[in-house]
Amino acid sequence: MTGEGAPGRWNVSMVTMVTMPMAEPADEQLLLNLLNTTPVVDGHEQDELADFALARQWLAANGQKATKQEWQGLLDVRTVLQAIVRGEQSPTALAPFLDEVGYWPRATADGLDWDLRAPEGRVAAAKAVIAWDALRVSSPGRLRACANTECQLFLIDRSKPNSAKWCSMAVCGNRMKARRHYYRAGETA
Ligand SMILES: [Zn+2]
Repeated sequence: MTGEGAPGRWNVSMVTMVTMPMAEPADEQLLLNLLNTTPVVDGHEQDELADFALARQWLAANGQKATKQEWQGLLDVRTVLQAIVRGEQSPTALAPFLDEVGYWPRATADGLDWDLRAPEGRVAAAKAVIAWDALRVSSPGRLRACANTECQLFLIDRSKPNSAKWCSMAVCGNRMKARRHYYRAGETA
């Protein structure tokens, strides 16, 4: 190994690290569940994280530490992530959620594992942000808002043609189809 060769290799591995998404599949679900905590039910916006009693259950159900700080962190990042996915805000707004966030290597029997480290109360928020970026890289454009403007839910489109419009065919898909039929009927009447 020459003195000049080593830094080159180090640079290559740094690049690999930076561009390779490290989010866990569970974090992707955490992200989608978080984005979908403000559904519209019967025309009224709900908030599944409105108070700590609700949030505590939600955090536990999503495998996160159920603390008030984690709850607050998720409320903050939710607003930003929803706006980014809707195209209303730049991802630069994620900067505060990345303060002191990093991956640390841990030796295992197989090699290295990378552990996420984030400040107390910011762990779930950091996971959601990293999962958002992993999706952006691995599945561009597939995380999006439901095409029903009265619906505030989001979807991850895993269909081959990448043409899914609705959070759920059963709910928004059928509702929007019914509406189109209604308008068409009105036009011809
Ligand atoms: Zn919908």
